[in-house]
Amino acid sequence: MKTPKIGQMLHLRGNSLNKGEPVALPLTQSSMFHLPGSPEGHDTYGRVNNPTWEHLESLLAHLEDAPCLTFPSGMAAITAALFATLAAGSRVLIPADGYYVTRLLSDRFLSKFGIIVEKRPTIAFTKGGFDGFDVVFVESPSNPGLDIINLASVAQQVRNAGGLTIADNTTMTPLGQRPLDLGVDVVVSSDTKAVGGHSDLLMGHVACRNAQIMEQIEEWRRVSGSIPGPQEAWLLHRGLETLDVRFNRMCETAQVLAERLSEHQAIRQIRYPGLPNDPSHALAGAQTLRFGFLLSITLGSEEQAERFINTCPLLRPATSFGGVHSSAERRARWGDDVDPAFIRISVGCEPVEELWQAIEASLNSS
Ligand SMILES: *Cc1c(COP(=O)(O)O)cnc(C)c1O
Repeated sequence: MKTPKIGQMLHLRGNSLNKGEPVALPLTQSSMFHLPGSPEGHDTYGRVNNPTWEHLESLLAHLEDAPCLTFPSGMAAITAALFATLAAGSRVLIPADGYYVTRLLSDRFLSKFGIIVEKRPTIAFTKGGFDGFDVVFVESPSNPGLDIINLASVAQQVRNAGGLTIADNTTMTPLGQRPLDLGVDVVVSSDTKAVGGHSDLLMGHVACRNAQIMEQIEEWRRVSGSIPGPQEAWLLHRGLETLDVRFNRMCETAQVLAERLSEHQAIRQIRYPGLPNDPSHALAGAQTLRFGFLLSITLGSEEQAERFINTCPLLRPATSFGGVHSSAERRARWGDDVDPAFIRISVGCEPVEELWQAIEASLNSS
């Protein structure tokens, strides 16, 4: 697996500048472009192109080592990838335990257009093989269970059966996992999470090395109007510049916290792929570059879990993850099929000892 060159990414714009141009990325907030005569080769209209997105996409493409298109949310990116690859009568396989809105999209809308939707839990994903599926949608590590599947093996089996694989890489980011290098056809990501990283925007992207698929996805965006706002694109670009620093810190802190939490008597169960005895550890070690910044703990009871989340001064009780502020929530409150006392923790950028002291004190008094 090739690791992306972050230094080059940070200088992509600078190295193409002319004398006197701003070093920071300008925010182009315009629907119209000055276009006398033939529009050929120029930005035309704000639903078709925008220099702020385009530069952001060049950075993401550098990270993914593949052409990228940005969208106004992770779900918009997932929708674009599915609408561009499915047709009436297609069969799609999705995880039964992944991000729940992908299931809603499939059940409520894809099925209305005659697409056959099937689901399997991540841990039994390969059971039954992949014959007859046009698209297999995977999420590894799964959110929130943190189960892992062998992406290279699944992508190969799907390809042999004549289908395409789409991987939701939100939880790992392009710095933590490289699904395209493992043979996956299309990557989708919610950049609302760690890539944006400051809990102040919603965005998503699609990355893919197949030009025909990317053409369809670009056409979907242009025709459906599912375009990012220039302001959000500008903010995401700003977040992307510090992703490497934040992601490193978050993964390192998550490892320390996981090790200490696994020794704490208030914890009934802990999941973190970086723990040697975690069921995901061996596969994560082989297939991801980092063990990530998400971990889960299960406490004694729902009440204890709520007390812990709501009293720890360095944990935001919030849904979503990947921000500079650590956050936590009981996933059962959204209907995820988990224990009522199961808590997903997104480890942020707080100094590790300060964060551990706050977490330990709140666990002891919950
Ligand atoms: C949040 C999330 C999404 C959806 O992204 P939005 O930006 O909220 O639309 C998709 N997949 C995963 C794994 C997510 O965590």
